[in-house]
Formats: sequence, C-alpha cells, structure tokens
Amino acid sequence: MKPRNWSPNSGPHDGRPWQLRGPRPKRRTPRPLIDSLVYLDIRSLGRRGQFPKDWFGTNVYGDQHFLFPGIKTIRTTRAKIAIEFYGGTNQIIPIEWFRPGYGGYRPIGKCGCGRRAFRLFKIGQRLVCYRCTNGRYATQVGCSKSRPHIQSRRLQNLLSSLPTGLWGTTHKRLWAQYHALKPRGTYKSRLLTERILRPRSRYRLRGMACQFIA
Ligand SMILES: [Zn+2]
Repeated sequence: MKPRNWSPNSGPHDGRPWQLRGPRPKRRTPRPLIDSLVYLDIRSLGRRGQFPKDWFGTNVYGDQHFLFPGIKTIRTTRAKIAIEFYGGTNQIIPIEWFRPGYGGYRPIGKCGCGRRAFRLFKIGQRLVCYRCTNGRYATQVGCSKSRPHIQSRRLQNLLSSLPTGLWGTTHKRLWAQYHALKPRGTYKSRLLTERILRPRSRYRLRGMACQFIA
C-alpha cells in the first residue's frame, strides 16, 4: 500500500522513511469543482427537441437561445454538434442515439477521450466529460456532514421553486426526503456558492415542472 503522503510529483527520494517525509505537497493548480463548471447537457437538448427530425437537417442556435457563457453558436445535426466559442474556437461533438427502453431514442455525446457522456463541462475553450475535467464534486470535498447538508440545500431550492398543489404524492416524497437529510448536520464552507446549491437532478419529477434544470 502506498503511504498517504506518496506523490509522483514529490521528486527523488531523500532516503527518509515515509513517516518522516511530511505532508503530501499541494498541487500547483487546484482541481476544479465540477458543480461550479458550466455544462452543456446533450440529454436536455434532445428533451427540448433541439435536434432536427431527419439526418439531413441542421438547427442553428445562437445567443438568444442559449445562456451559456463563452458559447456563440451551437449547430445540431443528428450525427454531431458543432460548437463555436467566442474567440473563434470550434469543437465538434459526435452524437450517438441509443434506445433506453421507454420508446424512442436518446442522444448522448462523445468526449474527446472516447467516453460517452450526457453532460459536457466547459474547461477553457473546450467541452469535456467529467473525468477529463480532472475535478471533484462538491459532495466529495469536506467532512461527513457536508454531503447531507449539500443534498438537503439542493432539495430545499428545488421545493421552493416547484408549483404548489401539483402532484401531492411527489411533494410528500420530496419533503420526506428533505426532513430525513436536514438533521444530519450543518456545514459551512466558502465552496457552497449559489451555483453549487442548485438542484442537480430531476428527482424523479415528471413532465414540464423541471424544465428549468438544464
Ligand atoms: Zn473525456
């Protein structure tokens, strides 16, 4: 087993045993928080019907359609997405269609590393999958209390934005989930920005109520 302070960057050994070597050196560039990155969700493009219906068409979306910082236009075809960033950089993301078993087809993007991903995160002038960001999720950072705290804050933000009176059982389920998470600790951190505390998933909601979750 490697000792905790082992690092490939620590340079040549000075001969001391690991117990005397001191803490692991800090990274030169800190890993980004994946939750705070801007992302393009291929699945929601498909959900909103923003792919052309046939294999010959192209849909063009400019600034007025998207609120993605740094992205100028997105051209969608059935086979690929061409993205133009401000500054002139272009990127092409291949699209594959799979059958989830509920009828119909769902689009999924392909990262430059060859992995398939729904969410592609913006790192500089590129969109990459979460593994290629080399980042961590906010729930991976912090102590054991941070995770239920972040989860409950996200749920709270979702519940406050849902229409009331709609789907009583769904409301009951989400409130029960919230009350189960809430007492499991509070956590304060400068990492907890408004962007990180946004709802991250659809929480098994149906239909149009969760269109705002990108
Ligand atoms: Zn990748």
